[in-house]
This record gives sequence, C-alpha cells and structure tokens, in this order.
Amino acid sequence: MNNFKAEPIELRDAMLAATLRVMESGWYVLGSEVKEFEKQWAETCGVSYGVGVGNGLDAIEIALRILNIGYGDEVITTPMTAFATVLGILRSGATPVLADIDSDTALISIESAERCITKKTRAVVLVHLYGQMRKMNEWDIFCKQNDIKLIEDCAQSHLATWHGNVAGSFGSVGAFSFYPTKNLGAIGDAGMLITNDKKLFHLAKILRNYGQSANYHHSDIGMNSRLDELQAAILIERKKWLEEFTRKRQNIAEIYRLNINNNNVKQLAPPEQSSAHVHHLFVLNCKKRNDLQTHLRKNNIESLIHYPISIHQQEACKGIIYDPEGLNNSEYHSKTVLSLPCHPQMTEDDVGLVIAAVNSFKVY
Ligand SMILES: *Cc1c(COP(=O)(O)O)cnc(C)c1O
Repeated sequence: MNNFKAEPIELRDAMLAATLRVMESGWYVLGSEVKEFEKQWAETCGVSYGVGVGNGLDAIEIALRILNIGYGDEVITTPMTAFATVLGILRSGATPVLADIDSDTALISIESAERCITKKTRAVVLVHLYGQMRKMNEWDIFCKQNDIKLIEDCAQSHLATWHGNVAGSFGSVGAFSFYPTKNLGAIGDAGMLITNDKKLFHLAKILRNYGQSANYHHSDIGMNSRLDELQAAILIERKKWLEEFTRKRQNIAEIYRLNINNNNVKQLAPPEQSSAHVHHLFVLNCKKRNDLQTHLRKNNIESLIHYPISIHQQEACKGIIYDPEGLNNSEYHSKTVLSLPCHPQMTEDDVGLVIAAVNSFKVY
C-alpha cells in the first residue's frame, strides 16, 4: 500500500542532509526547523498560523481545548474514521456524537448531523475522509445556523482544494497528522494545528508545552506534544515533493475510475472537482469484500480496509451517542469497503495490474 524505499533518490539524499543539519545544530525540540515548517505549512494552507504538535490525535484534542470545548459539550463527528478522531474528542473531555455517512461518498451526512444537534452541541469535527472535501458551503451554513464551530480533521487531505481554498482553512482550526503513511508524512509521529486566529495560536502553543505561558509559568494544565526538529526538517524536504506526489495519486485514481469495471464492485461518487480530492486512499465497495481481498492477494496485490469497524461498534465506545435513526450506512460501509493501492511510487504497470485483478474478480 506504500513503498517508501522506491522514493526518488534526490528526496532520500535531501532527507539525509536534513537529518545531518539537525544533528549538527545541537538543538532538537521546538527550534528553527519547527518554526520554519509551521510557517511554510500555514502559508501553503492559506492561513496565518501553524503550531507543530506531536501527532494528529493531539492536534484534535488541542483544537477543541483552545476553543474552550470540553466537559458537558457535544461534538458531532463520523463513525467512519480513524479512531483518533473520536479519541481526540473524548480526551478534550467533550462528548462525541456520531452522525451517519452518505453511502456514495462515506463522508458525514449533513441530514444525519442535523438530527444530532442538541442544546449542548458546540462543534463538528469534519473528517475529509480518504482525502476528499465536499459540500463545504453547506457545512459552513450548517455551522452558522447552529452556532457551532467547525474543526477540520485534515489527516488525510493535505493540499485538497475546494473552490480555491485549501483544506484546514475553512474551520476555526485545521488539524493535521504527518504520520508516515499520510500524504505528507514524517519518519515518525508528527502533527500540526493551523488557524487564522492569533489568540487560538497562542493558546495552542501554551497547551502543547505543559501549559507553560512563560518560562516556568503555567497558566493551564497542558500536555507534552511538541514537534521535534528532526521531523520538522524531514517534513520541509518532503513537502517539496507533495504537489507532484498528489498529482500522481489523483492520476492513479482517475485511471482506476475510468477502467475499473466489474458488476461486483461499486465505486464511490466522483469528486465535485478534481482538486477537492487528494486520494489518500482509493476505496471500493464490494458485498464479497473478503473474497475480493483474497482474490487480490492471490494476484500479489495488497489491500487494506478503512475501516473494518464503525466507531460505535468498538469495544471502547459502548454507550456512545449517535443519530437516533442509526448508523446503517456506516455499518454497511465497514463490511463492504476495500482500499486499493494508490500511492505516488506506483508505476503504470502496477496500476494496470490492480485494474486487471479487480476486473477479473468473479462471485460464484
Ligand atoms: C491518521 C489519522 C488521525 C490521527 O493521526 P495520528 O498522527 O496518527 O495521531 C486522525 N484522523 C484521521 C482521519 C486520520 O487518518
């Protein structure tokens, strides 16, 4: 599903040089590399500020806490996401409320989210799942009408652009993960919050560093979630390749979309605009998903499931609140979804082999 070892030699050399630069600087946590990467990433996303943190989970927790959302507050999100989305909400002290997904996109259904609104609702954590932004104007209206905050979970959507605006720039805060397998990934854990609000920016910097407002002065009960210099330096180099790698993902997805043709599999709806989907993952639905996965494996093609268990069916989430009409689409999706390889190091031949294998899948 990924092949880091096949990355361009220029990129590997630049990463090695960056590593040496950090080691020889003698400064390893919260230094000039972090500052530079925060500045560059905020600029790329079209916002004023970035705060480097330890990972995407922390970025979501900190996003909620700086918005003063916590105990007694409800936050709407999706059951079809990485567990970290919901964990970040829980760790802020707030109560997650799960809205169902639209079956043709696997993104949160606005109609279902409407049913989840109560007097306690303070925010929606909108996950741009698989790399896709959609209906951003409707989400904007939804948040304004209900007087709630929008937080974007951009862990899968680096550089996705909806009508000229980049993922992470729509909400009060955008939360990013740079886990190695993400579209922009470090060589370890890393994350960032981005915002246009100077006050939120300062609060996030305090929270990531023990709640320390000035040296040895603690204004808040914070955490240790600092981006380190090595990861920031690596990310600065990897970011230079992100546009090209994103185009490659989009290209592969387009070839899949046009050439995968098998009555036993169903593709999701195409994106509203090609730039609004950066194809962190390319997924299909298939009623015989496990058989399809076995068939692909026999053809030497790896595949994964994102995600095999809807959040409300996780053992740790017994009693979680959700849409009173249920989460049927999410449950069905978890049983039928399969992710095909879609990464920038794939060759045309690799893509052709995947298509041939999917198209030759038969159900008996
Ligand atoms: C990866 C991911 C996260 C968590 O990021 P980490 O850096 O692993 O903590 C959160 N949300 C989504 C949608 C993700 O894909």
